[in-house]
Formats: sequence, structure tokens, C-alpha cells
Amino acid sequence: MECELTGFLEMECTRRMQRHHLVNKSRLRGNPEALAYCEANAWLFLSDVCSAHNGSRIADQVDARARLIRQKVELYGEEKVREGLEGLRALFRSSTEDLRLEALLAG
Ligand SMILES: [Zn+2]
Repeated sequence: MECELTGFLEMECTRRMQRHHLVNKSRLRGNPEALAYCEANAWLFLSDVCSAHNGSRIADQVDARARLIRQKVELYGEEKVREGLEGLRALFRSSTEDLRLEALLAG
């Protein structure tokens, strides 16, 4: 299994792989529907990232997220990724402008 952020920031990958959550768990706390939705759509909301790239919140940086989402678009197509994101946004009452596909891709 290869780290989905291989080469990011010119950091060496470690062998230890972790699951990176596109949407922070803290943001999903108190919203069990959104949490369940993310888990049910792991193809979009979870990424395999090595411990080096997942540490120090590196994978949460906007350009890291842009790269992860761009790769999802390449794998699954723009329409499917957009649908997945919009499905999650519908479960929030608070603003989720940052979870629009365009916003994520812009980094
Ligand atoms: Zn890595």
C-alpha cells in the first residue's frame, strides 16, 4: 500500500500506514449522522497516509487536502466525488463552504 501523499513536502514516507480522515473527527463529534456517513463512504473520506505525512497535521494542510481530493477525482470521477461531498454537507447545519469540491481543490 502506498502513501497517498508520497513526496508531499519532499518528506520521506514511513512504512507505517494510517487512516487519514478528510473531515476532522472533532468536527464530526456531536453529529452522529455525519460520522456514519463518512464511515459508510470511506472511499472518499478516508485516505491511506503514512505516519510521517499524517503526523503534525500535515495531511490537514490545505494543499495536502487538495492533492488527496484531486486523486479521488482521478480515481472515481468528479461527479461521484461532488455527490459524496454534497451528501455530507447536507448533514450539517453550520457552514460547510470549505467542503465544496471547488473549495477543496483550490487548497
Ligand atoms: Zn507518506
